[in-house]
Amino acid sequence: MKYLKFKNSNESVPIGKLVCVGRNYLEHAKELGNDAPEFPIIFLKPASNVIFSGENVIHPPYSNNLQHEVELVLYIGRDIKNANDEEAENSIGGYAVGLDMTLRDLQFELKKNGEPWTLAKCFDTAAVLSDIVLKSDYKLKCNENISLSVNGVVKQNSDLSKMIFSPVEIIKYISARMTLEKGDLIFTGTPEGVSKVIPGDKIEASIENIGKIFTQISK
Ligand code: MG
Repeated sequence: MKYLKFKNSNESVPIGKLVCVGRNYLEHAKELGNDAPEFPIIFLKPASNVIFSGENVIHPPYSNNLQHEVELVLYIGRDIKNANDEEAENSIGGYAVGLDMTLRDLQFELKKNGEPWTLAKCFDTAAVLSDIVLKSDYKLKCNENISLSVNGVVKQNSDLSKMIFSPVEIIKYISARMTLEKGDLIFTGTPEGVSKVIPGDKIEASIENIGKIFTQISK
């Protein structure tokens, strides 16, 4: 079992499910040839996929197109079901930076065949996490800069105001369909600029006032 890491807290919270939102930034939807979605597109990753900043992403040998996606991650701090606006906001216990590592070649192949994306999104080290900043320490304005560079070259650079669905809208949508529990994480989607990485590449990702991630791709 894996446990979350917090800034300014030693609380021991096991990582629950990772609920991820696809296409939550218009420019990213477009760069992959998609329109803006009418509803959030939801998929899951298992907690066993999580690594933390400083650890290496292991490139699966069965893919030739591993890509980075930097995302705002919401930490669910209390159990919630069928949330209204206020309950959704109050269920957010904190925020983190996350990388939703994706096997883009597999994803296109699976989508083309009408099959689930699971194997394109779920593999060991497919979710990289920073420490969690508690909401009691920082209240998100939702206009913070979000960026990612590979080997010092900026690839993704946007801000959280460009999200199509807000954190509250996302939590309301998910919690109407499945209970969210303390320790669950929501990956809220990535801005444009996703690109292929190979073993040896160094990734640095950050969200203003939330944190930073450093990771290297290895075989
Ligand atoms: Mg993503």
